[in-house]
Amino acid sequence: MKKILSVNAGSSSLKFQLFLMPEEKVIAKGLIERIGLSESIISIDYLSDGEEKTFKQTKDIANHEEAVDLLFKLFYILSVVKDSSEIKGVGHRVASGGELFPDSVVITDDVVHQIDSLGYLAPLHNPPQAKVIKSFKDMLPDTLMVAVFDTSFHATLPSENYLYSIPYEYYEKYGVRKYGFHGTSHSFVAKRAAELLDRPIEDLKIVTCHLGNGASIAAVDGGRSVDTSMGFTPLAGLTMGTRSGDVDPSILPYLMEKLDLTEVDDMIKILNNKSGLLGLSGISSDMRDVETAAASGNVRAKLALEIFVNRVQKYIGSYIAEMNGADAIVFTAGIGENAPNIRDMIISGLSWFGMTIDTVQNDTRKEAVISTEDSRITVLNVPTNEEIEIARQVERLGARTKISN
Ligand code: ADP
Repeated sequence: MKKILSVNAGSSSLKFQLFLMPEEKVIAKGLIERIGLSESIISIDYLSDGEEKTFKQTKDIANHEEAVDLLFKLFYILSVVKDSSEIKGVGHRVASGGELFPDSVVITDDVVHQIDSLGYLAPLHNPPQAKVIKSFKDMLPDTLMVAVFDTSFHATLPSENYLYSIPYEYYEKYGVRKYGFHGTSHSFVAKRAAELLDRPIEDLKIVTCHLGNGASIAAVDGGRSVDTSMGFTPLAGLTMGTRSGDVDPSILPYLMEKLDLTEVDDMIKILNNKSGLLGLSGISSDMRDVETAAASGNVRAKLALEIFVNRVQKYIGSYIAEMNGADAIVFTAGIGENAPNIRDMIISGLSWFGMTIDTVQNDTRKEAVISTEDSRITVLNVPTNEEIEIARQVERLGARTKISN
């Protein structure tokens, strides 16, 4: 039995889960928010003598280094961990591994530099993640640290799917290609779907739909990602909470002139932060708000909902075409797991493919087959669990490097 910590750091947050492995039992999980802003919030749910407890505190935390320091202090105070040596491994979610990391990797000082240097592919994520990893390494210098990349699962994309139709030398010289994201989630739910279908993943063609605030779809053929909707950055593909997804790039200079913008970065910010459900509805980036407004007759909210559904349908259809078939469609993440109505809208519009939602089974937020028995393609709801997938990767690499228990 050993404790493995799974860490997911954002630019101003740090999410974590501490597992007892190999049982995969969660013994503590929590979130530190508003790091670097005033009144940071720390909340931890933990087990103490088998009882579930919650700890909450508000205090100023200046940076991620302080957050990591505080986290360990709280672990000791709450007796979640009595000695840091109990933690045998730490897995870090990293947004982009570019082409450098087609798999999870044991973190060395060089790896930290490389993660930081890939910041041009994920500017809001990689640099703070590199900093957090460094803080953890300082705190636990002898502990196995593993980086798990959101891009790695998509390293199997064939070149015809990862290349853009632009001069080839831009790929060779500047690494311009599709990298994809959410790989840990797509991989986890595809594997879980195969288990639920009781069939080897090698025999299955699966379309995985990770529909959260950020959203992407992947075509998983025989367990390997062969295409995905996000691209060089997470801006491409579906309509998202605040991101536009696919647009004609000629819109950029045209709008910059109209909006009197001189910096292309400002235009990209609009596409990243002011578009998607928020920009279309004018109400919110949160699907719950959009659904409520649409139900009460708001025309733009209804339109936002319809566009969201339409883009998901388009990608599912094109991935079925690309794989020349599909055995399963899997829904996951905030919207995918929790919005039966949206799953119904998406699948109902794809009935030509021979998929039919079972409205009774679909009324769930839990792991379930949600299509009818005679549906040609099985539709499933599979809550994602990136944290456990990260902990599993730490175990896998730990076994390889023979880190002692
Ligand atoms: P991320 O991890 O990308 O921030 P999540 O996977 O947590 O995002 O998903 C957030 C999205 O899920 C939000 O748009 C939220 O409105 C949506 N969501 C959560 N619960 C529901 C629900 N019951 N019905 C519809 N949408 C929901």
